Amino acid sequence: MGSVSEGKPHAVLTPYPVQGHINPMMKLAKLLHTRGFHITFVLTDFNHKRLLKSRGSSALDGLPDFQFKTIPDGLPPMDADVTQDIPSLCDSTQKNCLIPYCNLLTRLNESASVGLIPRVNCLVSDVSMSFTIDAAEQFGVPIVLLWPSSAASCLGAAHYHSLVEKGLLPLKDESYFTNGYLDTVIDCIPGMKDIRLKDLASFLITTDPNDLMLDFVVGVMDRAHRASAIVFNTFDGFESEEVNALSSVYPSLSLHAIGPFPSFLNQAPENQLVSIGSNLWKEETECLEWLETKKPGSVVYVNFGSITTMSREQLFELAWGLANSKKPFLWIIRPDLVNGGSVILSSEFVNETKDGGFIASWCPQEQVLNHQSIGGFLTHCGWNSMTESVCAGVPMLCWPFFADQPMDCRYACTKWGIGMEIDTNVKREKVEKLVNELMVGEKGKKMKEKTMEWKKLAEESTSFGGSSYINLDKVIKEVMLKQK
Ligand code: UDP
Repeated sequence: MGSVSEGKPHAVLTPYPVQGHINPMMKLAKLLHTRGFHITFVLTDFNHKRLLKSRGSSALDGLPDFQFKTIPDGLPPMDADVTQDIPSLCDSTQKNCLIPYCNLLTRLNESASVGLIPRVNCLVSDVSMSFTIDAAEQFGVPIVLLWPSSAASCLGAAHYHSLVEKGLLPLKDESYFTNGYLDTVIDCIPGMKDIRLKDLASFLITTDPNDLMLDFVVGVMDRAHRASAIVFNTFDGFESEEVNALSSVYPSLSLHAIGPFPSFLNQAPENQLVSIGSNLWKEETECLEWLETKKPGSVVYVNFGSITTMSREQLFELAWGLANSKKPFLWIIRPDLVNGGSVILSSEFVNETKDGGFIASWCPQEQVLNHQSIGGFLTHCGWNSMTESVCAGVPMLCWPFFADQPMDCRYACTKWGIGMEIDTNVKREKVEKLVNELMVGEKGKKMKEKTMEWKKLAEESTSFGGSSYINLDKVIKEVMLKQK
C-alpha cells in the first residue's frame, strides 16, 4: 500500500499478462512515477504469484506511492512456472476481466475517499486489454493505450481491413502458405515500404476469417478508436513515418512515440523503484560473473524470449552452428523452449564448447546486453529484446518466429541496418557463417556502427528536450491529467 500522497495524480496501469508486455508497462510505470504519479500496477493473480516466487515479497511491498493489485485472468489454476496458452489467455481476459477490474477501480476510489490514496485520474493499459476501455468510459477517466511492439507492426495490423478489401487476405487456402504468395509486396499501406505479406503479424495470416486470434487482434485494433491516446515504445527517426501514418488511421487520438524505455529509464533521476523488477522467472546471475572472464565484444548472446518455442532439430542445428563458429556464447535455454519437453545437449557438444559456452535458463537480459563482453545478440526479434539491444548498442542476428517478430526482423535487416536474418529452416553452416560475420566480419562492423548511431539517437530522444521526452510530457498534460 502506498503512503498518503495528497494532490498526486493516480494512474492505474494494466499490462497484458505475459512477460514481454509486463516489462515495458513496468518501465512506463516507473517513468510516470518519476513524473510524480501515484501508481497502481495491476497483475493477474497468476503472474503476481510468479513474481513473488521469482523476486520475493520484499520487492513488491512497502514502496512509496506504488502499489500492486491483482485481478483473476479467468483461466483454471495451473502450474506457476509455465507460460500460459496465448489464445486462451486472450479469450479469457476479454470475457472475464472487466467486472473484477471495475470492482478494483471502485475499491481504489473508496480508499481515496477516506484519504488513503489519491483518486484514480487515468488508466494506462496494454492495447490487448481492451476491456479497460469500457471501464474508462464507465468511470469517466481518460485511457492511454500502450502498444508494446513496433509501430510498424501496429500499422500492419491497423490496415487489416484494407488488405481484406484488396483481396490480399485471408489466404484462399493452405497452399498459399508455401506457394510463394506470402512474398507479395504490400503497396497499399501508407507509411510502409518493401513490406511483404509474410512480414505482417502472424495472427493476420490465416485461411480462416473467423480465427480466434485474428478476431482478437482485429477487435482490439477497432476498439482502440475509443481510447484517448496510444503510446509506443519507439522513437522519432526510428519509426517516425509509421507513427505519423498511424495518426491518419486513428485521427481522433493522440499518438506518440515515447521510447525507447530502457534508454529513458537509464537517464531518469534516481528513484526508489529501482528494486522493482518484473521478471517472472528467477534470474540466474552467475552468467554475469562468467562474462567478466571474457574479452570485450567477444561473446554472442542467444535468447528467444519468453514464449517462442522451437523443434529439437532447430535447436541442434543452432547448437552446432554456435559450436562450430568457435565464438564464446551465452545461451539462454528456457525449460519450455523446445517443443515436446526439455532437451539434453549431447556430451560431444558440451565437451566441444566447455571453455567457450555458458548455458542458463533465464538471465537479467538488460544487464547482460550492457556487459562489455557482449558483441552480438542472436534474437527472436521480440520488440523488448530489440529495443534493449539498440539501447545497449549491440547488433543482432534475427531469427523471427511469430507475432510481430517477422516485421521487426524485416525493419532491422532492411531499414535500420542493425540485423542479419537467419532462415526459419535453420542450418548449422549458415549459423556458423552468420555468427562469424556478426562478430568479426565487415558487415558486423558496419552493423555495430549503425547500432551505435541508433543508440545515440535513442538517448537524445529520451533526454531532457528530446522528442520522446516532450511527447511523454504532452501525453501527461494533454491526456492523463485532463478530466474527461
Ligand atoms: N528477458 C529477460 N531474461 C531472459 C529472457 C528475457 O530478462 O532470459 C526479458 C527481456 O529483457 C525482455 C522480455 O523478457 O524485456 C522479453 O520480451 P520480448 O519482447 O523480447 O520477447 P517475448 O518474450 O515477448 O517474445
